[in-house]
Amino acid sequence: MAMTKNIYKKVVFSLYTLTVYFPFATCYSCATPDDWLSGSARVQNGIPEQEDDDSAHAHINTRRGEVWPNGIVKYKFHSSLTLRDMFEVKKAFEEFHSKTCVRFVPWKEGERDRDFVSIEVDNKICGISNVCKIGGKQYAKFGGECRTMTTMVHELGHTLCLAHEHQRSDRDDYLNFRNCSEHPRKLRNTRHSSVYDYASQMHYECGFCGGGWATTEDIRKCGPDFSRGLSILDVEVINSLYNCQGCQRHRWVPLSSLTHSDKANMYNFGVTTDGSPLYICRALILRQLTPGIYDEANQACNLTIDFISHNLKDGVELLTIPGGPNAQCSNYQFVNQAEVVPNNFVQVQGGPIFNNPYLSIDVAYAVKPATGEVAIGKALWVENEKRYWDQAEFRIGSETYTSRDYKVLCCTNNRDCMIEQTFYTSKLDL
Ligand SMILES: [Zn+2]
Repeated sequence: MAMTKNIYKKVVFSLYTLTVYFPFATCYSCATPDDWLSGSARVQNGIPEQEDDDSAHAHINTRRGEVWPNGIVKYKFHSSLTLRDMFEVKKAFEEFHSKTCVRFVPWKEGERDRDFVSIEVDNKICGISNVCKIGGKQYAKFGGECRTMTTMVHELGHTLCLAHEHQRSDRDDYLNFRNCSEHPRKLRNTRHSSVYDYASQMHYECGFCGGGWATTEDIRKCGPDFSRGLSILDVEVINSLYNCQGCQRHRWVPLSSLTHSDKANMYNFGVTTDGSPLYICRALILRQLTPGIYDEANQACNLTIDFISHNLKDGVELLTIPGGPNAQCSNYQFVNQAEVVPNNFVQVQGGPIFNNPYLSIDVAYAVKPATGEVAIGKALWVENEKRYWDQAEFRIGSETYTSRDYKVLCCTNNRDCMIEQTFYTSKLDL
């Protein structure tokens, strides 16, 4: 069925209206760590307290914590876990294993490596975890109503050095705590995406005071109850922090911090009609991270959203693929949207898109048949239907262009090559 622009608009709008009144789920709370809250710190029994200054929570190379070498985290199941708890924890591991290069590996009593995470149940709390690798035995716990995969993904996010999204130093631009008697402190030097991520698994539920209230009215839900696991931006932060390779080596680098080496790695996917190289950028507009073409001369990201073109200079990020598109046993390329293998594509932003948790935005590419001009645009992946939206939206020059005949940026692994080269399979007996 051919869809005109107007029908496309109408269908997108109906998706929005259908899902905008998404019901609030039960509140989610996490006690990690207590002294991140303002006011007096509550003490958790038996849990080592984090030092009460922000530098101890800077997460990277702090006195107390560091990232896990090679992304390998040793764990031990505590006797407090039931089989069902173990099932939930293993689903949490799978969330990291399928989207990042981090690997959770059983710790064996008496092995030389003494650093491991004891995974435990504590029904006095929802969840708590040490932040980063602290050396020796450390904890990731869940309890009560929170003995779920998503709580454990959140706690293990702390284990890997992620901070709460709603404690970012710039969070007051996105949240307010007007109705809250207690609110989490802001932290300095946290590792996070340059874009504020309401969908982060490390975000408390908006509207629940630990997470504050979203400053923009169209953000109805955010945080762990909204998502079913790591957000796309959570995955990007982990893959960058652990220097993941293969199909996880692409990085979106803010224009404001682009280095010479980043510039050399910018993904050049073609040339303009006058011979200038074409690069892929993304920028936030109407709370959607939207892909576009980088205009190097004007240092702007040229993109289109809802059929209106924009040249954005603030908050622009560029796609870099260190090593080039064909390296590290992996191959980044544009693939016809109908032939895409799910999960191989390069995602830009996940739900909620139009407040729909099942939509994500991916990088699309099309050639305008009349002129041969190429364009970068936005493809919508419909996760629950495992297919792309029929039409993708592009910009060519100052015009918007929609096409059913488009490609999406994907990455495929060469499995034989991976088996030889991936560090965790060569070092560990998985
Ligand atoms: Zn937490």
